[in-house]
Amino acid sequence: MIRHHVVVVGGGLIGLSTAHALLREGHKVTIVEKRALGSGAATGNAGELTPQQVAPLASANTARDVFRGVLSRNSYLSIDPLQLPRLARFGLGFLRAARTANASRGAAALAQFSGGIRAALQRMADDGVDISGGGDGFLMTSSDETELDAAHAAYRSRAERGWGAGPGPVLRGDELRAAEPALQPTVVGGFMLPGEFSLDPVTFVASLVERVRAGGADIREGLAAMRIGTGPSASIVCADENGAEVTVRGDRLVIAAGAWTTSILRRSRIRSAPVVSGKGYSFTVPVDRMPSSLVHAMDLHCVAIPMHGRLRIVGMMEFDGHPERANPHRFEVLTRAASRLIADADWSARTDDWVGARPMTADGLPLLGRVPRRPDVIVAAGHNMHGLSLGPITGEIVAALVADREPFVEGRRLDLAPFAVRR
Ligand SMILES: Cc1cc2nc3c(=O)[nH]c(=O)nc-3n(C[C@H](O)[C@H](O)[C@H](O)COP(=O)(O)OP(=O)(O)OC[C@H]3O[C@@H](n4cnc5c(N)ncnc54)[C@H](O)[C@@H]3O)c2cc1C
Repeated sequence: MIRHHVVVVGGGLIGLSTAHALLREGHKVTIVEKRALGSGAATGNAGELTPQQVAPLASANTARDVFRGVLSRNSYLSIDPLQLPRLARFGLGFLRAARTANASRGAAALAQFSGGIRAALQRMADDGVDISGGGDGFLMTSSDETELDAAHAAYRSRAERGWGAGPGPVLRGDELRAAEPALQPTVVGGFMLPGEFSLDPVTFVASLVERVRAGGADIREGLAAMRIGTGPSASIVCADENGAEVTVRGDRLVIAAGAWTTSILRRSRIRSAPVVSGKGYSFTVPVDRMPSSLVHAMDLHCVAIPMHGRLRIVGMMEFDGHPERANPHRFEVLTRAASRLIADADWSARTDDWVGARPMTADGLPLLGRVPRRPDVIVAAGHNMHGLSLGPITGEIVAALVADREPFVEGRRLDLAPFAVRR
């Protein structure tokens, strides 16, 4: 097999997973990272790996939420009205993707990864990456009966099509409280999704960084990629911390810069589906009674995750055009939502406030594949809310593309057409 020198741009979940998979196959790897490895949305997220829930955000329900997101400051989805002109293409694409037939097509495209999520993560664990800190099975809750029944039916139907394990029975009232005493009494119902699982992304990323370093990757932190170089070899033109131009060369290039990918492609005159930043927030809170599993409140749009003995709260989707800026009001909105879910928490003793930019695409599908007319350049970005679930498998798919192999997910050929860079 030909060994390549691959330059990976971005050292977040996708870039690190890709570097790991490439090193496993014996390639030489250089990682170019604007800040430090594991920046961006890599560590403060919910740690969920979701063979059942890996689906686009756009749906009839979320399309309705868009209007509330523009008008209200207290919705989980928040859109800065000043950003509307900049978000027009993304917004129209989102509304198109929310049509029932398109949403089903998007879900089917993503479901191709479903069977590979746990297996690819396990291969990383076999290589020595730490996947501890979480647990198996999520409790999905809602106080909206219609939503509860519809979600239960949807997960049953996904399982019947082979996309993950089916849900447990719907529990209500005392039965639910007996199953999970940490819930607020106002939570009406819930059911388990036994096939979903979680890990602690902080230890996972630290361990992945350690494996990638030990594997011999050349790590170039503090270099911001600006544009793809012209010329016969694959190269990326960067700015160092003093603003000086530095060109990093290899013979293959992988652009995995999360929510920052579009600006690199645009400066390189590569047309692509836009990736925009949809910010999420998290914090840790002390509790008297820890939930026995991850609790995902569908109506409140927040998640409570027991992680190495602490409770992390995660939620919000904010489009304000500033991927790295935390908005203190969003922490308040998230705290209010979580306090309606979890009992016996000290909400005034919040720590580890964190904000991260999800790389969102209008149709919910990542950009994954070669750039037209540049077979030496691969894009792996736009993993929306699923970059941890899909990171390990994405790394393996990119490694297949680098080696000119057809990509497979656990023995099934992957149809990459829905993930085309330009669509
Ligand atoms: C609150 C929240 C909760 C989430 N929960 C989950 C979850 O439970 N499960 C799940 O699967 N996903 C979850 N996600 C989504 C997941 O975190 C993202 O999909 C994932 O981080 C995307 O990986 P990435 O490598 O594309 O981007 P990132 O992890 O953001 O990494 C991008 C990297 O590129 C670097 N970079 C940027 N610009 C440049 C440049 N010009 N040059 C060089 N480097 C650059 C950045 O510094 C960063 O290190 C969550 C996200 C958030 C915000």
